[in-house]
Amino acid sequence: MTRTVTDVICPFCGTLCDDLEVVVSDDGKELLEVYNACAIGAEKFLHSQAKDRITRPRMRQEDGSWKEISYDEAIEYTARMLTDAKKPLMYGWSSTNCEAQAVGSEIGEVVGAVMDNTATVCHGTSLIAVQDIGIPSCTLGEVKNRADRILFWGCNPAHAHPRHMSRYSIFPRGFFTGKGHTGRKVIVVDPRPTDTASVADVHLQVEQGRDYELLNAFRVAFKGEQLPDVVAGIPKEKIYEAAETLKSGRFVIIFFGMGVTQSLGKNHNIDEAIAVTRDLNEYTKAAIMPMRGHYNVTGSGQVWGWLFGFPYAVDLSRGFARYNPGETTSNDLLRRDEVDAVFVLGSDPGAHFPFSSVKKIYDRPSVAIDPHETPTTEVCKVHVPVAFVGVEVGGCAYRMDNVPIETRKVVEPPEGMMTDEEFLKHVLARVKEIQGE
Ligand code: SF4
Repeated sequence: MTRTVTDVICPFCGTLCDDLEVVVSDDGKELLEVYNACAIGAEKFLHSQAKDRITRPRMRQEDGSWKEISYDEAIEYTARMLTDAKKPLMYGWSSTNCEAQAVGSEIGEVVGAVMDNTATVCHGTSLIAVQDIGIPSCTLGEVKNRADRILFWGCNPAHAHPRHMSRYSIFPRGFFTGKGHTGRKVIVVDPRPTDTASVADVHLQVEQGRDYELLNAFRVAFKGEQLPDVVAGIPKEKIYEAAETLKSGRFVIIFFGMGVTQSLGKNHNIDEAIAVTRDLNEYTKAAIMPMRGHYNVTGSGQVWGWLFGFPYAVDLSRGFARYNPGETTSNDLLRRDEVDAVFVLGSDPGAHFPFSSVKKIYDRPSVAIDPHETPTTEVCKVHVPVAFVGVEVGGCAYRMDNVPIETRKVVEPPEGMMTDEEFLKHVLARVKEIQGE
C-alpha cells in the first residue's frame, strides 16, 4: 500500500512551488513518485532515494581517500576547527531552512565568523541597490492575478525556474487576468536567444554588458524624448515601442536575474531598473522582483536582517556586525587569505566560485554539510551528510517574493542521519564547552 502526501513544497528553486503530490510507502520510509514538479524539482525528491547515497560523515585521509567517521567525530572536528580559527568563513545557507540558519548564526557570533550566503555571487548587487533606493515590489500572487505586462531582464526562467511561467508570470489565469497568456504581453531582454525569449512577444537582444544604457534609454523613451538611432544594439524604434507596451499595461512586473546583476554595472544596473519601475508608476502600476535561485537564499537574508541588520557578507570577527561587500564577501576574503577555515552548508561554492577561491578552500581546514556529493565536498576535509530539508525534515523557507512558506517532511531520512539543525545545535554546544575549558 502507498499513500499520497499533497500540498508538498518543492525545496529547489526560489519559486517554492506548493502544489506537489508525493507518493510514499505506507511506513513513510520510501518515496516512490513525485507529481506536479518540474524535472529538476522531481529529481531533488527522487535523489534522496539514491541507493549510493552517502549516509555517514567522512574525513579525507592523507592519500586522498575517505574514511567514515561518526557524527560525534564530525561535530568535534567542526567545533575545534571553528574555535581554533582566528576568522572562519561560514558560507552557504541558501539550501536549508531558517531554523538551521538561526542556529548557524549563533555559532558565527560565538566564534567570530564571517557569515556569507550565495547572494555574494548572485543577487548581492540587488540587495545593495535595494538598500540604496528601496524597491517597489509585490507578491507572486499579485503577479498571477494582476500583471498584464511581464518583462524578464537577464533571466531565463524556462531553465532556472521552470514552473514560474506556468504558475505565476505568463500562462495562469488570475482574478484580473482571466485570459491567461493571451491577455499578457511578454518582453525579454537578453543577449541570448533563450527558451524564455522564444515564448515572448518581444525579444530585445541587448549587447552583452550594456544593460545600464538600455535601462536608461527606457526612461528617456517613457518621456517621449530623443534617443540615438541605436542603443546597446537595439534600434530606437523598438525601444519606443516596448516602452509604450509597458506604459499601456494595467500592471507591469519586471523580473531580473544574474544576466543583469553580475554583468558590467552590477548594482548600478539594479538602481536603474528600480528607477525604471518608479518611472512606470507615473503611468500605471509597476513592480520589480529579483529571480532568487536557491529555494531559501531569501530566507537567509531575512534571518540575518533580523539578527545582524545585513542580508549577506556579515563580518562578526570584531564582536559586532560589519558589512562591506567587496571587503567582507567570500571571494574577496578567500583570495586575500583573510579567512583561515571554511565551513559550508547549503551551497556548492566548489561549483560556483572561481578556481582561485576553490583552491583556497582546499588549502584550509574545511567542512561541507550537504546531503549530496558535490564539487565542494570533494575539496573539503570533512563531509557531513544530512537529511534533505523539505523532503526528510520540514522548516521555514522564504519564496523569492519574501513570502515565508513552511516546507513539509514527506519521508523518513536514512536511520541515524542528522538534520542540518541538529548537527549545528551539537556543534554550538561543543563550541561553548571548548570556549569554557
Ligand atoms: S519551478 Fe522550482 S520550485 Fe517549482 S517544481 Fe521546479 S524546481 Fe521546484
